[in-house]
Amino acid sequence: MKIDLKNLVRKNILNLKPYSSARDEFQGENGIFLDANENPFGELNRYPDPYQRKIKEKLSERYQIPTENIFLGNGSDEVIDLAFRIFCEPGRDKVLTFSPTYGMYEVSANINDIELINLDLNADFQIDLESLKPYFADENLKIIFICSPNNPTGNSIQNIQYILENFNGIVFVDEAYIDFSPEESFRNQIKNYPNLTVSQTFSKAWGMASVRVGIAYASAEIIQFYNKVKPPYNISQLNQNAILSILDNENSKLVSENITLILEEKKQLIQNLEKLDLVKKIYPSDANFILIEVDNANSIYQKLVNKHVIVRNRNSIIKNCLRITVGSSEENEKLIESLKSMN
Ligand SMILES: *Cc1c(COP(=O)(O)O)cnc(C)c1O
Repeated sequence: MKIDLKNLVRKNILNLKPYSSARDEFQGENGIFLDANENPFGELNRYPDPYQRKIKEKLSERYQIPTENIFLGNGSDEVIDLAFRIFCEPGRDKVLTFSPTYGMYEVSANINDIELINLDLNADFQIDLESLKPYFADENLKIIFICSPNNPTGNSIQNIQYILENFNGIVFVDEAYIDFSPEESFRNQIKNYPNLTVSQTFSKAWGMASVRVGIAYASAEIIQFYNKVKPPYNISQLNQNAILSILDNENSKLVSENITLILEEKKQLIQNLEKLDLVKKIYPSDANFILIEVDNANSIYQKLVNKHVIVRNRNSIIKNCLRITVGSSEENEKLIESLKSMN
């Protein structure tokens, strides 16, 4: 399929002359730097690499994806917001997503004054293709957001390939939980689909939520627009260092071990939840959290809070459902003990 980025990208962004920082204009490492009005004293006195090249090189090596296909954002929330600012004309364009899902697509749409079309997922929390198809022809529909594995339901979404092949706008696949999932990442498909953007994050499986670094994988053309629109120094040196360190061989091995541990804990947690009468249903999950249905979510949520166990009450979105993050062995035991005492 061919997509015409010139028609997808906002006119003002196509024509934008991006800010050119001192680090854009001179990129060597050796020299006396009198070009950026930095302070000559101190340890954090220099502006960081605006393109985070060292991190991208490590990701490139790790996943066999060229650095020109990688963008790093201040959390994947920045990646989501930039997608709106690149592709969607305020007051005119639309995006589409499937509910229930991650709340940030809607918030970003509202901030950017973009209409959000919300299609309900079916009873299995899958996309109903028949209700989606009519929207493919809408010229003002610029982005379809798909969260897979989906938050808060936990399941992987099917038929993404079909949407990529039949929609001429941007298909934004949010894979925040992909490292917990047995499914293959769509990251490996960016060379086949010029309309695909895959976002991932260091916040979940990598254990770096406080560092605020998210990733976008896309065609080099799309990535160039991200680079054009982002704030020049969007990731601090401290945060870049933290990510470089977690990507070290030794540390990333630990990350993999922790993922395995969390998945084992998840299995155990599901077995223990299944034994409880107050748990009516446990939804299938490819992520590090589990959605359960109970009799009265509001009441159970409050009783758990009273016992200092905090889960996410999703009752307002999916009736009587709680979303439970898989914690450490001790934390999960405390949760189960607390639920048992309510039976
Ligand atoms: C947690 C989460 C993110 C992560 O956002 P960051 O800004 O990278 O921390 C992104 N998408 C979904 C669906 C999430 O649940």
